[in-house]
Amino acid sequence: HATKTTIADQLRKFESLFTLTPQRMRMIVEAFKATLELGLAKHKQTVPMIPTFVFGWPSGQETGDILAVDLGGTNLRVCLVTLQGDGKFEITQTKYRLTEEQKQGDGQKLFDFCAECLKTFVDTHLSAEMNGLSLKPGDKLPLGFTFSYPCTQDRIDHGELIRWTKGFGAANTEGQDVAAMFRKSLAKFVSHTQLSFLSPSPSPSSSSLPLPASLCDASVPPLPPLPFPFTPTNSDTSPQDLPIELTALINDTTGTLIASHYVNPRTKIAVIFGTGCNAAYMERVQDIPKIKTLGIDDHAQMAINCEWGAFDSFKHEHLPRTKYDAAVDETSNKPGEQAFEKLIAGRYLGEIMRLVLCELMDDGVLFLGQNTYKLEAPYAFDTAFLSLMESDPTDELLTIVGIFAHFFAVETTLAERQFFRALATLIGRRAARLSACGIAAIVSKMGYLEEGCLVGADGSLYNKYPGFADRVHEGLVDVFGEKGRNIVTHNAEDGSGVGSAIIAAMTKIRK
Ligand code: ADP
Repeated sequence: HATKTTIADQLRKFESLFTLTPQRMRMIVEAFKATLELGLAKHKQTVPMIPTFVFGWPSGQETGDILAVDLGGTNLRVCLVTLQGDGKFEITQTKYRLTEEQKQGDGQKLFDFCAECLKTFVDTHLSAEMNGLSLKPGDKLPLGFTFSYPCTQDRIDHGELIRWTKGFGAANTEGQDVAAMFRKSLAKFVSHTQLSFLSPSPSPSSSSLPLPASLCDASVPPLPPLPFPFTPTNSDTSPQDLPIELTALINDTTGTLIASHYVNPRTKIAVIFGTGCNAAYMERVQDIPKIKTLGIDDHAQMAINCEWGAFDSFKHEHLPRTKYDAAVDETSNKPGEQAFEKLIAGRYLGEIMRLVLCELMDDGVLFLGQNTYKLEAPYAFDTAFLSLMESDPTDELLTIVGIFAHFFAVETTLAERQFFRALATLIGRRAARLSACGIAAIVSKMGYLEEGCLVGADGSLYNKYPGFADRVHEGLVDVFGEKGRNIVTHNAEDGSGVGSAIIAAMTKIRK
């Protein structure tokens, strides 16, 4: 009984630490709005409000076959998108899991890996589907590259990496043009691919790189290192003859924005809730003072990649940070940065929970006398566990029994399990309500509240965390009152890949 009382006391403490009142939310929204305006007014602000050079909405009538490579925080996706017009599309895609070595190693090697996966995908899928493709011999397949890290752009097919986020740290990449780096890798790998449907005499066995079959399945554990350097055996296509042309470098939020609008034109904003958290929306060029000198038509519109994960970085003036959040930040590879993202995104929520558990273990409240070394490893507690705990359907909370016994080799009491579930709810709800503040800031800035709008959302946190969307919606009502119901999030699955393809198609049409 002593333990039970202590745990209940603990819960009250955490409730007050992690709960965001409507009043506090409205203060955050105001500060957020001012930050968004500042990022539009001046270059090099904490929240950079990056002009994407994606001009206006798609018509919904874009058509064609387009490749997309999407380098996310956890996975790499390669897709072939067939845009059918009328807001319809088909997508074939393969996911590859990124290893820690690839995230932290040499940047060019990371892009080589992307090019190599693209080559495998092309070899595997395109020959089989060649009859359905709209390409003629001599045509180049447009490629959209979704690169979900902050880049400054002065045109659509170019972008300098400002800084890595989401735990990436690959060397020789920050400050570089990542589109150029990827083109270099494409020239190394993909230029030597014989796209059988583009060559006069197809040779089916042309140059398929022997990648392990397991590479094509993201559910398998991290992959073995790839056979670098790869020397192509078939070099009858010169790099100048690339059958694939990288036409657009885009952020996943921008892709999701454009893809969601293609499907439903009421979409005005997109948010990603994956490894990281970020948003994009369409802005009037006349309201982006920092690009006035470029002479772009004032009446045009341009998508803005907010990079809002950086809100409140370094100064920590506006967001409610607990000591657990401070610890996540201090032990991250980029202390001080991405302050907003670190309270919300999939990469961090499990770690916040783990740090709370570790403190209670140190205080002798939890797991006394048990060996807890597995829980003591940084990032051992995946955010997916929070989802699982919240959705445990049993009275005895048997899923939670399983998580702790199986993954961490510790036994739990029912009271502890109820506490863990309540803690997960607090952390998950805070993340959703903070996201609502960011959405509310854009809605309020753009005047979308009266008319209402849709918010395209994607990422595992949004798609898989039970009740996440409902909590975002509740948060919007807490900020705006009943009118908050006019703002509705919806799932934009595959948005980043499809959006990348649509943007590549839009770019091609406008060329
Ligand atoms: P990416 O960010 O690479 O595009 P995802 O959208 O799949 O990829 O996001 C990956 C993040 O989502 C990881 O941080 C992971 O911890 C988290 N995640 C994976 N599964 C779940 C789940 N069931 N519930 C909540 N978060 C999850």
